[in-house]
Amino acid sequence: MAPGTLSRQFVNIVLVVLFVGIYSPAHAEKPLTLLVGVDGFRWDILDRYDLPNLERLAQGGVRVKHLQPVMPSKTFPNFYAIATGLYPENNGVLGNAGYDPVLDKTFRMSDQDDHRWFEGEPIWITVEKQNKIAATMFWVGTAATYEGIRPSYWRPFDGSVTNAERVAQVMSWLDLPVAERPDFVSIYFEALDSASHGFGVGSDEEAAAAREIDGLVGSLWQGLDQLDLLAVSNIVVVGDHGMTNLSAERIVYLDDYVDLNETFSELYSPQLSGERQGNAVYATLYGEPDSLERFYQRIQGKHEHLAVFKQGEYPDWFHLSHPVREPGLVLMPANGWMVSKRSVPYHGPRATHGFSPLERDMQASFLGYGPVFAEGVETPLLHVVDIYGLLSRLMQLVPANNDGNTSRIQALLRQE
Ligand code: AMP
Ligand code: ZN
Ligand code: ZN
Repeated sequence: MAPGTLSRQFVNIVLVVLFVGIYSPAHAEKPLTLLVGVDGFRWDILDRYDLPNLERLAQGGVRVKHLQPVMPSKTFPNFYAIATGLYPENNGVLGNAGYDPVLDKTFRMSDQDDHRWFEGEPIWITVEKQNKIAATMFWVGTAATYEGIRPSYWRPFDGSVTNAERVAQVMSWLDLPVAERPDFVSIYFEALDSASHGFGVGSDEEAAAAREIDGLVGSLWQGLDQLDLLAVSNIVVVGDHGMTNLSAERIVYLDDYVDLNETFSELYSPQLSGERQGNAVYATLYGEPDSLERFYQRIQGKHEHLAVFKQGEYPDWFHLSHPVREPGLVLMPANGWMVSKRSVPYHGPRATHGFSPLERDMQASFLGYGPVFAEGVETPLLHVVDIYGLLSRLMQLVPANNDGNTSRIQALLRQE
């Protein structure tokens, strides 16, 4: 062996190790923002169940004790308020079912790809417009184009796609070559919401679903670790609303006070009009001012557990003053109550949401973990409309106009 060969070989090995260490799997040059949407992730889930993977995020990052939803505390308005940072009055999504009197069209959740429903710029569009790559493994509004743009990678909502497949899809996007790999990824799970609706708050089924979600978050963590992305990932796990138990004893029957044939010949309610519609926890009515006023006079103040509001007198925090879609009346039962019609018997669900966002039961959870988040911090309050600005900040994007509050966001971040 020629003198010096061994030391040259050693140097070569060191160089290869350094090269691999810097360029191959460490992805420091391209951070990731991972947004995990957990439907029905009520504010106290972490306190009620033993969820080690979620707890690890809380311990090493930020837990917000109460995430306040927008009105109504339903899935579509809240996931879309998270995505846009806008109140329903500014993004057009005023309910899981929304009525547009100009188009004379009722949008329902199955209209997920109708871009006329979804207004405002969602985060995946901000990402794409600023030359980064967005991938969405479901999120409300992702199937609709905005200014002709969609996420680079996306899947139309399909509840039959298993949660394991959702995680696998995210991992395969993250395993793409760096130039094609997304900067922003969303993933959505409805299992917890479904279990709580079906079996109630505090049920064994809810506990099992919470553990399932925890396991899925654990799989995402492990996947990021295997791809060596953990150190450069900011992870947000967020709920859209809480949940409360219902009872057949807590129903306000509208036909005890008004003639529903007359009412619904004059007024339209996306939640209550029609033979089979009823059992609503939040109902909006549209129609001519005289008919609305007549209905209001007959129903307002008649039942101690039903609040009725008319247009022009909505509290500020309603944020329903959309230029076209603002309802003429809002019926809001007290937490745990429903409005219905005697012809629509109550067959469940055992629990639901849609009540005032100020109710504690309706508040959701928020966890943030990663290099940009503070470590081991608990803050009292965040609003769902703050999250768009936060995500923009995590990705160093210029946010579109939004309704978020920067000082509430600041409290979550690591101080430089
Ligand atoms: P909610 O009635 O408010 O409890 O809505 C929860 C349901 O919304 C879930 O069980 C899903 O079936 C549905 N959902 C969630 N995301 C979407 C979406 N992007 N498109 C259509 N439906 C969705
Ligand atoms: Zn929901
Ligand atoms: Zn639900």
